[in-house]
Amino acid sequence: MADPHDAATHLPTASVGAIDEDLFCLDCGYNLRGLRGDPVRCPECGHDNDLGTVSIPASLIRTALHEMETYPTMCVALSVGLFLSLVISAFESDARVFGLLGILIFAIGWASAYGRVRKTFRDAVLRRTVMTDFHLITLVFLTPFILSVLLLVLIRSPRDEGAVFVLFLVAVAVCWTISIRRYKVARHRLALGQREAAVRIARETLNHIFRDARASGRRELRRERHAS
Ligand SMILES: [Zn+2]
Repeated sequence: MADPHDAATHLPTASVGAIDEDLFCLDCGYNLRGLRGDPVRCPECGHDNDLGTVSIPASLIRTALHEMETYPTMCVALSVGLFLSLVISAFESDARVFGLLGILIFAIGWASAYGRVRKTFRDAVLRRTVMTDFHLITLVFLTPFILSVLLLVLIRSPRDEGAVFVLFLVAVAVCWTISIRRYKVARHRLALGQREAAVRIARETLNHIFRDARASGRRELRRERHAS
């Protein structure tokens, strides 16, 4: 059984324990997870963050940052579907109907996912960069497969299949090295954009709260004056 004295001595320790959720520095957007203290000092910019204040906009920020990853990823997945549908309708005359149907569905899906991307990214430059990065990286990553399938369709001779396979391996080595490198750069760029977004959302949310508090304070004051 737990000793109540033990629980009592552990309570204060728990309240100043390491932060175990995503909270963001109000000054630079750095993720304060894992840090200790109240106020918690940001290791990047040195700003002292009051835990009560940083936790107010945290859930809004978490949702927004998550969406900044989800919707571009959805667009990429849908453009792969769109590409496959194009290939099917171009090369498979038996399955042309399915290919055309796929083009329609994936194009509509992409447009609606892009609509969400537009809402999620306030910064148009960042939005364009992230979308271009993600799509190009995926294209480069899939290039070995696209190239091999194209060659196999074009040559139609079993003799050259070995050569196509060797070419495929070389393409994998080159393209995957490029795409992994570019992916790291792209993730870094997105992370910087997410930090800016975190700061913006925190400022907007807290401004609202302070404005509302000031307004209700003024109302209270007026009421008191009327009463007296
Ligand atoms: Zn900071």
